[in-house]
Amino acid sequence: MQILQDHIAPCRIKKFILDTLFPISCLSCEKPDEWICEECLDKIPLKREQICPICEKATTPDGRVCFKCKRKYSIDGLLTAASYKNKLVSGATHYYKYRFIEDLHIPLGKILTKALLNSDLALPDLIIPIPLHQRRLRWRGFNQSGLLAEYLSLNLTSGFKIPTANNLIIRRKYTPPQMKIKDYSQRIKNMRNAFEINPVEKNKIKEKRILLVDDIATTGSTLFECAKLLKKSGAREVFGLVIARQGN
Ligand SMILES: [Zn+2]
Ligand SMILES: [Zn+2]
Repeated sequence: MQILQDHIAPCRIKKFILDTLFPISCLSCEKPDEWICEECLDKIPLKREQICPICEKATTPDGRVCFKCKRKYSIDGLLTAASYKNKLVSGATHYYKYRFIEDLHIPLGKILTKALLNSDLALPDLIIPIPLHQRRLRWRGFNQSGLLAEYLSLNLTSGFKIPTANNLIIRRKYTPPQMKIKDYSQRIKNMRNAFEINPVEKNKIKEKRILLVDDIATTGSTLFECAKLLKKSGAREVFGLVIARQGN
């Protein structure tokens, strides 16, 4: 028993107990031990047709903002990895976000990695997850975008880690979840001044190609707001990357 205790960290024991009480199985085919098995993960198609994230009309390469929507400080584009209409995608992202299944960041991170490597976008200099407000972070226990950013940082290139910055953007306003707000203009208003750049980390932004990561985009207003702040602080390019966009 002593040997066992020496070799198994407490978190492993906790995981073992949880796995025994609530056995894990693939959300799609119910094969045991994984939330999304390799086979089902490979079957999730990457989103081919990408659109301008602002007007949501023009088809553009890799989801770049179309020339009509382009503004001085606007986001450069939003790459959407998969379709929300795919049942496994919507199911898994829902489990990840609302049922706190932290382990899902691995298959979801794989989808993001695959999508970015399949695109024509250059690798970023810096990866930034959309931050959670401290209050919500305490309640949730992990930042779902932070874990995805960490996965990308380790897996986009073999051999070196792309830096991440988790505290560069601060969420200063405790905003109601976007899902609960129906009206579009209300959502934009909800996001205004919700974020600020951490003055201590501001020097990391200048001339950088930045990848902003989130799990699901709804209207995109959170990503647009963060991108604007980064562009105003001197970022060369800001591209968003999400697993899916609600509604398409
Ligand atoms: Zn499966
Ligand atoms: Zn547009």
